[in-house]
Amino acid sequence: MCALAKTTRTIYQPRQSHAPGVPRPTRCRRNDAAAFGRRQCHDGSRGPRHLGGELYLSLSLIKPLLLTMKKPFLSKLLIFALVVVLFENSGLRAAGESNPSPKPEARFKLVPFGSIRPEGWIRKMIEQDVTQGLFVNYYRTWELKYNAYVNRELVGSEARPWRGVAGHAWEGAVQAGWGLALITNAILSGDSTATQRADEFVAMILKSQDPDGYIGIFNPSNRYQPDKMDLNGSRGLLFQGLLYYAQGFARKDVLDAVERAVQCDMRHFNRDSMNLWARSQLAMNYPQFLDQLAQATGKAEYAEYGAFVIESYSSAGGLPPTCFADGTLANLLDLERPFVGHAANTTPYLVLPWLNYYVTGNPVYRQAAKNGFAKFFKQMSLSGSLPGDEDNNGRAPFPDIGIEFCTTTYLMESAAVSGEKTGESRFFDLAERVFFNAGMGARMWDGTSHAYLKRDSELSLDYGPDPASKIMHRYQYSPAHEPFCCAEAMMDLLPLFTSHMFKQTKDGRSLAAVGFGPATVDVTLAGTKVRVEERTQYPFASDIDFHVRPEKSVVFEFLVRVPEWAPTATVACDGAEIGRQRDYYVIKKLWHEGDLVRVRFETPVEAIHWVNDEYALKSGPLVFAAKIEAVPVRYDTFPSGKQTTQELSGGKQPIFGFTPGKNKKDWEGGLIANAKQPAFGFKRVVVQISDPEQPWRESPVQLQGEMSHMRRTAKVALVPMGSTVLRRVTFPASLYYGSSDTATMMDSNTSR
Ligand SMILES: [Zn+2]
Repeated sequence: MCALAKTTRTIYQPRQSHAPGVPRPTRCRRNDAAAFGRRQCHDGSRGPRHLGGELYLSLSLIKPLLLTMKKPFLSKLLIFALVVVLFENSGLRAAGESNPSPKPEARFKLVPFGSIRPEGWIRKMIEQDVTQGLFVNYYRTWELKYNAYVNRELVGSEARPWRGVAGHAWEGAVQAGWGLALITNAILSGDSTATQRADEFVAMILKSQDPDGYIGIFNPSNRYQPDKMDLNGSRGLLFQGLLYYAQGFARKDVLDAVERAVQCDMRHFNRDSMNLWARSQLAMNYPQFLDQLAQATGKAEYAEYGAFVIESYSSAGGLPPTCFADGTLANLLDLERPFVGHAANTTPYLVLPWLNYYVTGNPVYRQAAKNGFAKFFKQMSLSGSLPGDEDNNGRAPFPDIGIEFCTTTYLMESAAVSGEKTGESRFFDLAERVFFNAGMGARMWDGTSHAYLKRDSELSLDYGPDPASKIMHRYQYSPAHEPFCCAEAMMDLLPLFTSHMFKQTKDGRSLAAVGFGPATVDVTLAGTKVRVEERTQYPFASDIDFHVRPEKSVVFEFLVRVPEWAPTATVACDGAEIGRQRDYYVIKKLWHEGDLVRVRFETPVEAIHWVNDEYALKSGPLVFAAKIEAVPVRYDTFPSGKQTTQELSGGKQPIFGFTPGKNKKDWEGGLIANAKQPAFGFKRVVVQISDPEQPWRESPVQLQGEMSHMRRTAKVALVPMGSTVLRRVTFPASLYYGSSDTATMMDSNTSR
């Protein structure tokens, strides 16, 4: 409670509530299957504010006009005019030319890595990940044995399974991803063994740095060439890790080394050089790192360089292969073109146009960013990720399509950084949804194994004694996978989410809680050191207490994100002015040691009509699933034979498949359409669990209700999909158990 003698308790209730049992108003859902490929919802509305509020500039608007043009000359004239307009508006013009648009200002800035520390279940999970399972054995894996940053030769050998440029680049990417995972987990866990390995890794990279500043995997004779994948994702991941290390361990020398490496890139790859993306196209994380470096150093030229890297990706001489082309400017501007490419590349591209827009002010990039997310939401999985096993192929998000762990982690980052730039709550909603559902739902709670590919509905993982298909092993639960990208993405997800939980405003006068969960943040606000402790069991509970501890009393604004899924909320803080600015509650006061902000979100159960014409149930950020008992089946090697459990963990952590157990038939029924209550009558219920620190092992929250099966009605309890291995996430609604006007009842049962 506040220390003020005179307290005025302010409770802010900004949004209209729905009485229990009263159908919620019809609302078009962005992930409504029936709206897939269409611009409008069934009721003709343009959907939620963020999706349909503005007219999309799309090539597709002009395409039909061109096609109907009979006269070739006029067609050519129109195309010429279109090209001129696009060129004038695009970022393809050289920098420095006049741009009439005022530069937009990003809503938030980053809090330096390590300033936000995990608590509660997040801390417990990171500690477990670091002290057991994959993390402690990962350095033994065969792909890490060939140090591409020291051994820059391209030639292969018997002992070196990957050969040539592609293999060499892959080795570099594997090491970079491992470095980022190692550094972030070491900083946030404080584990001494992990910290020692992180120190050794960074020392090795610094030692490999050339006198001109170059850090990378190529010799002087073959670097900065279009056919060498030099500036690829591995660069972004490696440098991001080094930047976080510099921030987390206060190492100015490491920051200097990274800056020198980037300056070396800037001297060799710029507007006067050839475009390195002519054949390789993995821009991915590098511009995102450059934006963070600009924020860390206050040097705008790094963010401007990032904008150049983004532009050059879209204007490469030969268009990138389809699997890597979802994020080009032209493809993003075309709203009719669904995502088809490698999903793990598509999701990191989503933030790139936002980064460019906030540097250049070029409205074409803003449009591309909006279009990218509009397209994404049409193809988003129930778990909040992008289906793709490995490519998406333009598919609607059926729950039986595999989702890659890389896709999930990169999407979480893309969404969180998009939220940082725009301030829009929906991006942080997305970061939470993909983290809590797709991310937590593709790994074991104790960190000993995870799936490379995971389906939202996973009914069985039984491969038989001799799994023949090479791709199939990626669905198994293993301490690691080959290739290793997804193992690293799994290790990155918890620390990276933690790093985005709070944001500051540029003026240093506001702190915003944007991604919820147990954590502590230390920042400087209005010149005073302030600690905020966020105490909550979120997402398993929707009440959050923020304990504010300034070093001395100070005035600042504390912002709390309003999730789109919460119809009402209460915010209470003694002696504070509480208001609402767009997607945030703004709590302003003279803060004293021990002040408390209490936030309570209403978390109704929502029914979602999905693409398979079945229904899913969601509450707050959690998607709920029927948990099918998973009986483990042990495997000792991958089908390819390249890895063995011996190599990974001395045989202590085998690879698992799972067969469905005795409750497998319990879930063959359907939701009851005439329950005469919203969400088919399901209620969110808190249950006692044995270990509150391990909520993903056994969930403290369930959705309880009834399902019909074989002329009988049975009580069932659904759990968050993140606490399941085998599960079913969508269910038919049993029309024949409904009243005569079933259609009406179906409408009142869903929130669309
Ligand atoms: Zn992957």
